[in-house]
Amino acid sequence: MLLLFDIDATLLKTSGVGIKAILDAGRELHGERFTADGIETAGRLDPLIIADMLRRSGLECSRPAIERVRAAYHRHLERWLRTPGAAYALPGVHALIAELRRQDLATLGLLTGNYPETGRMKLAACGIDERQFHVQVWGDESPYDPPARDHLPPLGLGKYRARHARDLPAAHATIIGDTPHDVRCAKAHGLRALGVATGPFSVDQLMAAGADRAVESLSDTPGLSRWLLSAESATA
Ligand SMILES: [Mg+2]
Repeated sequence: MLLLFDIDATLLKTSGVGIKAILDAGRELHGERFTADGIETAGRLDPLIIADMLRRSGLECSRPAIERVRAAYHRHLERWLRTPGAAYALPGVHALIAELRRQDLATLGLLTGNYPETGRMKLAACGIDERQFHVQVWGDESPYDPPARDHLPPLGLGKYRARHARDLPAAHATIIGDTPHDVRCAKAHGLRALGVATGPFSVDQLMAAGADRAVESLSDTPGLSRWLLSAESATA
């Protein structure tokens, strides 16, 4: 069994410093014309968010241009995350992960739009050890151009196979995320989706997007661990 957690607004929040850091990065490179206005970020891949900002700012959005913003973003995020209280784990997250590890029935993983270096930095800032997530799929790993979140679940199943030397049926993997993007990428490949309404979307919106279940938060440790660990019995 494989449980793939989204990061932003699922495991943790960063009080907007992620966007502030990208904005600082863009402005360091391109001046005040660099803008994040009107760019949707929730549930999207970092390379797509940066590409949209470059385009919106009237700048060239080649791969090297995106990589330059990425490198500067890394530096600025490190600084922003030192703001006391900016990054925090969401209610129930530490307890749920501890319980899932205690039961030891599932491989824990990450499936996120973050770049690895900045995603890991956010987790560390919240006291979440990224090494307990043995399958990690990051926002820069799509093999296609343009990249999309929908490309990521098969990579997660492939990494599971590489680690355990056996195939995992898609229905034995669950994506836990806060946006319809998380839900849709799971359902597009036959994975289960648990929506969590700690981001911009409600339980109803996440259910409407196709989630198998949606909850207000990850606070119900016994109920959620039972449901998350039920994939194999439910689908066997
Ligand atoms: Mg999210």
